[in-house]
Amino acid sequence: MNKGRILLSVTGFNPQRWHELLSAERDVVLAPDGPEDPSITYAVVWKQPANILARLPNLRAVFSIGAGVDHLFNDPGLPDAPIVRVVAENLSQHMTEYVVWRVLDHHRQGTLYRNQQQKKIWHEPPQRSAADVSVGIMGLGQLGRVAANALLAIGFRVNGWGRTGRTMEGVQTFGGEAGLVPFLNATDILVVLLPLTPATRGIIDYKLLRELRRRNGIGGAVLINAGRGLLQKDADIARALEDGLLKEASLDVFELEPLPKTSPLWTHPKVFVTPHAAATSDPAHLVAPMLAQMDAFERGEPLRNVVDRQMQY
Ligand code: NAP
Repeated sequence: MNKGRILLSVTGFNPQRWHELLSAERDVVLAPDGPEDPSITYAVVWKQPANILARLPNLRAVFSIGAGVDHLFNDPGLPDAPIVRVVAENLSQHMTEYVVWRVLDHHRQGTLYRNQQQKKIWHEPPQRSAADVSVGIMGLGQLGRVAANALLAIGFRVNGWGRTGRTMEGVQTFGGEAGLVPFLNATDILVVLLPLTPATRGIIDYKLLRELRRRNGIGGAVLINAGRGLLQKDADIARALEDGLLKEASLDVFELEPLPKTSPLWTHPKVFVTPHAAATSDPAHLVAPMLAQMDAFERGEPLRNVVDRQMQY
C-alpha cells in the first residue's frame, strides 16, 4: 500500500506547523479537490467545516488533533471511518501541571494572599495540610489518572469518578450515576476532566455543586474545570459562588469560547480564568506518533486510541 494522502482540516488556529511536519512524510492537502475527492486516505482535523469529511469516499481514518472529540460529533456528515484521538505523554504532562498549579493555589490560599498583598496586609491565616483535603477528579481517564498520581505524590487524598468505576491504586473510586453523590460528598476540590458527550453535557450545575463537601479542608468547596465548557452551566457557577456553595473556581473552559467580554466570570474576584489553555496539542510532540500510527495501519496493524462511537469518547 502506498503512503495514504492526508487532508488537514482545521478551524480556529493556523495549522502551518502541523502542515509542515505532516508534509515531511506524506502528501498533505488543506481542502478536498472537488465535491468528491477519492485521493484522500486520512483526515487530521480540529473543528473541521461541516460535511467536509463526507466528500472523501476512500477515507480510512480520522485523527483528532485533540484528546477531546466532541467537535467531530457536531458534524452531521461524519463518516463511519474510525476516529483516533490524542493520547500523549506531553498532553498529560501539561494537564497535570495545570491541575497541580490550580489545586495548590486554592489549597495555599493564593486568592487571599494576592488580595492581602494589594492592601499591604501582613497576616498569616491558619494553614491546612494536603492530607486533610480531598481532591475529586471527575473523569479518571488518560489525563485524570496522571494528574491523580501527581496529587497523591504531594499528599492530597484523591477520589475519582468515572462511568465504569475503574479502580486506581491510592484513589477512592466511584462509578456511574449511583456513585456520583457519594463522590461529591467526599470531595473538597472538584477537578473536572470529563469528555463532552450527550451523557455529560451540562452536568456541572447548581444541584451538583450543592453536593460538594464544605466542612473542612480549605474552608469551602472549589471547582476546577479543564474538561469542556459545555459540561458546565456558567450561570450556576456564578450563583454557587455568590451563595457560598463554592469558595473559589479555576475555569479553563466556558459554555461560549472565547468567553464573552460581558461575562461576569472575567472580573469575579473568586474566579481564575485561563483561555482554554490547560493542555495545548503541540505538533512537535503529536505529529510523529500520528504518522507512525498511519505507517503501522498500512502494515496491517490495528489503530490505537480509537473512540467508541456509541459513547462518543
Ligand atoms: P479519556 O481517557 O477518554 O477519559 C475520560 C474519563 O471520563 C474516563 O474516566 C471515563 O470513564 C469518564 N467518563 C466519560 N463519560 C462519562 C460519564 N457519562 N459518566 C462518568 N464518567 C464518564 O479522556 P482524557 O484523555 O482523559 O481527556 C478528558 C477530556 O479532557 C477530553 O475529552 C477533553 O474534553 C479535555 N481536554 C481539555 C484540554 C484543555 O486544554 N482544557 C486539553 C485536553 C483535553 P471510564 O473510565 O469509566 O471510561
